[in-house]
Formats: sequence, C-alpha cells, structure tokens
Amino acid sequence: LNVLDHWSHLAFLVGFFVYMRTRHAFEARFKGTESLERRVDRVELVTLVAVSLGAGVLPLLFLFSPWLAFADVSLPLWCEVLGAASMLAGLWLFWRSHADLGRQWSVTLELRKDHQLVTRGVYRRVRHPMYTAILLVGAAQGLMLHNALAGWSGMATLSVLIALRLPKEEAMLVDQFGQDYRDYTARTGRLLPRLGGGQ
Ligand code: SAH
Repeated sequence: LNVLDHWSHLAFLVGFFVYMRTRHAFEARFKGTESLERRVDRVELVTLVAVSLGAGVLPLLFLFSPWLAFADVSLPLWCEVLGAASMLAGLWLFWRSHADLGRQWSVTLELRKDHQLVTRGVYRRVRHPMYTAILLVGAAQGLMLHNALAGWSGMATLSVLIALRLPKEEAMLVDQFGQDYRDYTARTGRLLPRLGGGQ
C-alpha cells in the first residue's frame, strides 16, 4: 500500500483526517443556523464536485490502491518537509478561521439570519483566511504525495473554485454590508495580509 511507503504519505493522511474532523466539529456546533440567502449556480456545483474528486477521492485512491501508479514521482526530503510545514500552518489557520467566523460559516455562498461582518482574529488583515488555509493544505498534498496526479489535483481544482468564487462572495458581502465591507476591503488583503496595510 502506498500509504505506508513514505512517512509523508502517512503524515498527509493524518493531516487530512484532522482537517475533516475540524470541519465536522464546527458543522455540528452551528447545525440549524438559518440561511437568509443562498447564491449557488451551476458553475459552483460543478467546481465543488471537481474539488471533492481532486482534494478527496484522488489522494485516497492513490494511497489505498495501485491504480494511479502511472503518475508516480519521487520527491526529495525537502519537498516532504516543506509540505508537512504547509499542512501544519494550513490546519492551524483552518481551525482559527472557523473559530473566528463562527455561525457565519457555510460551504457555499450564503448569508445567515443575523449575519455579522467578521473583521477580528485571523480576519483582521486577510479577508479570506479560510481559503488561504485550504490552499496551504492543497500545496501540502502536492508536496507530500509521491504522485503528480493525486498530488496536484487538489491545488488545481481548489484554485479554480476559489478564483471563480471570490468575486461573487465579495459582491454578496458588499450588497449586504455596503460601505462597511468596502472599508474592510481597503485595509485588508484577499488571501495574504496587505503590504504596508493595516489601520
Ligand atoms: N471566504 C472566507 C469565508 C469562507 S466561508 C474565508 O476564506 O475565510 C463562506 C461564507 O463566509 C460566505 O458565504 C460568506 O457569507 C461568509 N463570509 C465571508 N467573509 C466574511 C466576513 N468577513 N464576515 C462574515 N461573513 C463572511
């Protein structure tokens, strides 16, 4: 089994498990939060399915079956170590952004009943820290799995999802919060802290 061939495969699997647990814990905590508005189109649904394949099914298929062997590659130790660091940073940021976003969180684009604009914690300087976290975990997948297809399918599908979603998400938040969200935009960066920014 591929999963036992390299320490980085096992470490990725543990990280993947922690990632899923974190999400489920917050999903359970805010279960039943009412939605006021949902903006989900066909593009969004197709890209969500692509992401579950690229960042879920393919890596697991690679780890537990021989079927993706045609795309095997050999990675140097520094790649695996960099990947593990990216995984740890991503998991921490994923957890913190869930904690700070609280009941405002949703899988797709939604506004909750009594939706509050969050600008604190990891949202203070970055508008989309959860997407940054997901991309860090996606990079870890590529750097830790010794397979080009199962490794980079996560990053590829996630980048498309996030690139298509960001403008729609920000438009929705401007519709809802108006000038407050524009001011927040002016002092923050999308995925990384704004250079020279801050109040
Ligand atoms: N894009 C954010 C949140 C992802 S969850 C991030 O990457 O951290 C998606 C939902 O979060 C969206 O439906 C939107 O309603 C909500 N959201 C995004 N930014 C928000 C903010 N600053 N305050 C409150 N809700 C926000």
